[in-house]
Amino acid sequence: MKQPTRSQLVKKLDKVFSQYIRLSESDENGYGNCITCGTNLFWKQAQACHFYTRGRYPTRWDEDNVHYGCFRCNVLLKGNYINYTRYMLDSYSREFVDELEIKSQNGTKIPSSELKEKIEYYTEEVKKLKEEKGLL
Ligand SMILES: [Zn+2]
Repeated sequence: MKQPTRSQLVKKLDKVFSQYIRLSESDENGYGNCITCGTNLFWKQAQACHFYTRGRYPTRWDEDNVHYGCFRCNVLLKGNYINYTRYMLDSYSREFVDELEIKSQNGTKIPSSELKEKIEYYTEEVKKLKEEKGLL
């Protein structure tokens, strides 16, 4: 069988990781609040919003860097960063957010084998969360 390209792996991991964030941060019925504006929405309508940008690969799939949000905040308000920063400082700490920034700027390339492992891991987690919540 033909091996998937790196960009195919990235795309696949983005998709399943986003599902994981939205399912893990929503309640037992699949509803959650946008972390930056508080709007309550169903996980399928929600977005997985990055604090440090997706362009920074070391934190692109870091659960501490990606949280539940709405289209308006993530896209129209370009991340709603004043509120997102408040959320990060309140949920973690200044030191943690600074360390996450250093991690986000680490230029080491993530090996494709690790991308594949993450895809497997999050696919399994998504399956479990959907079963738990009856969202199959
Ligand atoms: Zn919002």
